[in-house]
Amino acid sequence: MKVKNLRPSLLILIGSFIYLVISAIAILIFHFYVMTINILVIIFAPLISGIIVFILFYSLLKIFIQKRLHLIYKSIQTNQDLKPIKGKTIDLLINRVENDVQEWKLNKNKEISKLKEQEEFRREFLGNLAHELKTPVFAVQGYVLTLIEGGIEDQKVNHQFLNRAALATDRIVNILEDLDQINKLEVDSLNIELRSFEITDLIKEIFDSLEIQTKTKNITLRFKRDYSPIQVFADRIKISQVLTNLVYNAIVYGNENGYVDISLTQIDDIVTIEVTDNGIGIEEVNLPRLFERFYRVEKSRNRNEGGSGLGLAIVKHIIESHKQTIKVRSTPGVGSTFSFSLKKSPHNGPVSSRGIPLK
Ligand code: ADP
Repeated sequence: MKVKNLRPSLLILIGSFIYLVISAIAILIFHFYVMTINILVIIFAPLISGIIVFILFYSLLKIFIQKRLHLIYKSIQTNQDLKPIKGKTIDLLINRVENDVQEWKLNKNKEISKLKEQEEFRREFLGNLAHELKTPVFAVQGYVLTLIEGGIEDQKVNHQFLNRAALATDRIVNILEDLDQINKLEVDSLNIELRSFEITDLIKEIFDSLEIQTKTKNITLRFKRDYSPIQVFADRIKISQVLTNLVYNAIVYGNENGYVDISLTQIDDIVTIEVTDNGIGIEEVNLPRLFERFYRVEKSRNRNEGGSGLGLAIVKHIIESHKQTIKVRSTPGVGSTFSFSLKKSPHNGPVSSRGIPLK
């Protein structure tokens, strides 16, 4: 049996027993060689002193361990209230420490992997941000330099270059505005203004506002106009942003003469809104990372040069701050469907423009 596997109380007991044997031998030597001692003293003196030694050692060691542990716990649990390190026996005390150390190790491992993940995310984020900004910044630089170096006098290109530089600055502004928005969403993700509103009206509004974008590709926006009114309980402005981003993507990544469909399904108190297109679709390997900031399917990088790569990250943030979910299914070459849920309003009658029920 290895000493390190023994419980501390057993070790003290063994120590006390060794003391008992040594003191018995010492008393016997004294009895035989120095002075005759009463038989009861010979038996009981080592026994009683052994018990006293056991109790004394046990208590002193317990106090010592408790004090030392208190100091160790104090330096480890820096930001927690330190519970007194108590245990009825030394064995229970050591057991508790063993469990605490295991738990502490697990927590630290979790913290370390989270920090590593964050570090990786930060690195990727900065790389992506630099990549996204590089193209428009270099474009502006190129046009401006060409104009300075004489292009400004050339009536054939000066306006064209200025317009292109303006487009590139618009792109930079788009990226910065999206970044600002995502930052705000992260800082006060709970700051959503929930109210009842008619989701079918909002969908019609979004379709109207994006109609002009459909023209170049002749894409049809379809929404069954015969849906009976459905009130949802959400932040109207933020959901309008969600729908705009999804429908806009469906147009940008859609095919010529294609369509974008929106459908609604109601189950219990949840309304599911689906935005479907018959565009280029997305390979399955890309689906899990689609909602990450700046994530783009490689092939689509050139397809939407004006996009910031933050649209879906913003969408996910907004839906999650409503405590709802967003999903995507897609087949390359067939099309994609983005679906998200919203809570139905508790009142289903008409509401004022501020979301207050009218009856
Ligand atoms: P952006 O469109 O600005 O690149 P998003 O965050 O809106 O950024 O979208 C991320 C990526 O998801 C896009 O680059 C594109 O690859 C892919 N994607 C989004 N919506 C669709 C869609 N409806 N069809 C195909 N791919 C899509």
